[in-house]
Amino acid sequence: MQDAVIITGSAGGLGKALSDTLSSNGSNVIGIDKNTSADITADLSTTHGRQLAVSSALDICPHPKAVVANAGLSPIHEDPFAILEVNWLGVKELLDSFLYPLSGNRAGCAVAISSIGAAVGGDKELINCLLEGRISEAKANLNTVLQSNATEAGIVAYSSCKVAVAQYVRRNTKLWGENGVRLNCIAPGRMETAMLDGLLSHDEIAPGIEALPTGIIKSASASKVADVVAFFLSDQSSFIHGQVLYVDGGSESLIRPNII
Ligand code: NAD
Repeated sequence: MQDAVIITGSAGGLGKALSDTLSSNGSNVIGIDKNTSADITADLSTTHGRQLAVSSALDICPHPKAVVANAGLSPIHEDPFAILEVNWLGVKELLDSFLYPLSGNRAGCAVAISSIGAAVGGDKELINCLLEGRISEAKANLNTVLQSNATEAGIVAYSSCKVAVAQYVRRNTKLWGENGVRLNCIAPGRMETAMLDGLLSHDEIAPGIEALPTGIIKSASASKVADVVAFFLSDQSSFIHGQVLYVDGGSESLIRPNII
């Protein structure tokens, strides 16, 4: 296969919406998900699953046009350590592995999916551990939070991973640029998927989501966010590299107006 777009978490939510949008525009899509409906079934919460995902995708398309590191677990997932595996290592290890294959494609680019959670939370020490590859220390740090509050551990794991994902993109601007591959990040706000449904039905988490300020529209469909990802993958955005874009109806700007 030529010029494929590889999408993780392709079986539901944003990943599925993006797969549908790109496929209907004639793009070749290779979907990766733990759900067996995907082109490649792989569990990104394990080292083996991540390696399988990369090798299987490259067997189908050695020089893909794009990679979208989208798969993520919700902050209310029962195992906060799995959040570190999927939401951080499932992004970082996959993007690291796809850089050189992407550089073999004239139009190679990638998008990582962060979250509005990056603007409102995260633990500095945990984020540094993730970015510096100190995963055992990250787990020990998270375990301390887990001992006192399981809900908080999920929130801290999720937000810290989403900050790390956005910083990974910015820190890799030079390396990826030197290899001719554009790398950007989209950070959605309230996006109407199964993940949001779960969060809104959680007694402790729902009030925080409801308290997010709304600039223009309170929430958006996954396909609205997919349209922005598709733009970042297109030639129309060929001068955009190393950026983090909040697609959130204005929430992030309202929360921290002085950050540019
Ligand atoms: P979702 O839960 O609706 O879909 C996630 C997909 O990822 C599913 O198909 C699931 O099977 C897959 N997945 C989960 N764990 C996996 C694993 N271990 N291995 C392989 N695949 C796995 O989520 P969504 O709302 O579409 O979220 C997509 C991305 O957007 C995530 O990174 C999420 O953190 C982010 N995000 C979502 C929202 C929101 O409001 N929904 C807001 C901000 C950011």
